[in-house]
Amino acid sequence: MSVKRGVSVGGSVTSTSLEVTRSPFDIGVQQLERAAAAMDLDPNVLEILRRPQRVLSVYFPVRMDSGSVRVFHGIRSQYNNALGPYKGGVRYHPDVTVEEVMALSMWMTWKSAIAGLPYGGGKGGVVVNPKALSRGELERLSRGYFSAIAEVVGPHRDIPAPDVYTDSQVMAWFMDEYSKISGHNVFGVVTGKPLIVGGSLGRDTATARGLSLVVGEAMKKLGFDLGTASVAVQGYGNAGSYSHMFLERMGATVVAVSDSKGGILSNDGLKYSDVSAHKRKTGSVRDFSGCDNITNRELLELDVDVLVPAALENQITGKNAGRIGARLVAEAANGPTTPEADDILGGRGVEVIPDVLANAGGVTTSYLEWVQNLQSYYWTASEVDARLRDVMTAAFDWVWWSKEENEVDLRTGAYIYAIMWVAEAMKVRGWV
Ligand code: NAD
Repeated sequence: MSVKRGVSVGGSVTSTSLEVTRSPFDIGVQQLERAAAAMDLDPNVLEILRRPQRVLSVYFPVRMDSGSVRVFHGIRSQYNNALGPYKGGVRYHPDVTVEEVMALSMWMTWKSAIAGLPYGGGKGGVVVNPKALSRGELERLSRGYFSAIAEVVGPHRDIPAPDVYTDSQVMAWFMDEYSKISGHNVFGVVTGKPLIVGGSLGRDTATARGLSLVVGEAMKKLGFDLGTASVAVQGYGNAGSYSHMFLERMGATVVAVSDSKGGILSNDGLKYSDVSAHKRKTGSVRDFSGCDNITNRELLELDVDVLVPAALENQITGKNAGRIGARLVAEAANGPTTPEADDILGGRGVEVIPDVLANAGGVTTSYLEWVQNLQSYYWTASEVDARLRDVMTAAFDWVWWSKEENEVDLRTGAYIYAIMWVAEAMKVRGWV
């Protein structure tokens, strides 16, 4: 399917038009329409939800170490703020596109609603390969991007956070840049910060912690024992590596993991402490002693109980869904499964815990960090963890209820539940 979509652009920049083929945003709209049909959604609400409220494109200069200036493309998409300020991460990646960021901002809206957070959804990105930058260039790029989008963000407007290839250091630069512009400290403008400047205990492991909690709940519903389960994890960054750690702690055996360079397999199981140390030392999980090197494609098709895609979008598609060997897919990554793949997996009895539920632990703990920033009162790790557990188990129960009540798959159930709240807020506010 090929479509032409005009992108409305806020702020001081020009509008653009994109020729795209099955972009992540098209997939997001397809998922939205599927849920809208199942819940008989007001067509006026659907009309508003077909596109983000604002997409800001910025082109900003960065002084490179060589002395030359390079101009980078940054994006911030604000999909919907009916339930509260926009909220969502910032991704640094050479393949970032406007449509990808738009899709991610839509998914953030559903995720916040499912977790019952007083947030809407946003997302940001910069088209850059951060691995090719020096630390000084990365800092200047981060400050340049944040200063360029400063007029549309703020602790009550839009609150960014880390995503692929951005971390707590980048968040500290974002916060510092915004604080300089504002003339006073504004810790609550971003989440995922280092502890010393308003970060929350537990934020670094929160996405994986949340994932492990909902995997545990799903296994109970499906009658599987996590203690005897085998797991494969694709992607070994924040979400993937800590998923390995938590699932191992819950008794599961992680037999395969991968990163952008490829994967490793050991039927006897991989220990988190060993693999993460190897990755820290060598830069990759590959070539770990006693293991077979495998490709990312092979990892996805392994005969395991649980598959955790924790890298990028469109990993499970119509092409490989028939060969996915897992009984349960838990989406740590955003958008790893296409709608075609959902149909195939559903037909084969493979349960998918959708991204909007499976990785909601990240935004939930971001919310807890933001609340601590706003009140300048900080909680212990166990207080944060108890709140995260309450939110994730309640979100799981509601999504499961919605799936059964509406007789749909988990993803559609999650969408229906989220859209119901967003639509209700839009109606009460008089948008429709
Ligand atoms: P990260 O930058 O920490 O790690 C990304 C990992 O993916 C790296 O190990 C990288 O090597 C690997 N990777 C990249 N391309 C790959 C490929 N083609 N095949 C296999 N592995 C590949 O990023 P992250 O924060 O862990 O994010 C991963 C996913 O989880 C993204 O989809 C992100 O949107 C989602 N997510 C993250 C958070 C969070 O709090 N970090 C929250 C919600 C969702």
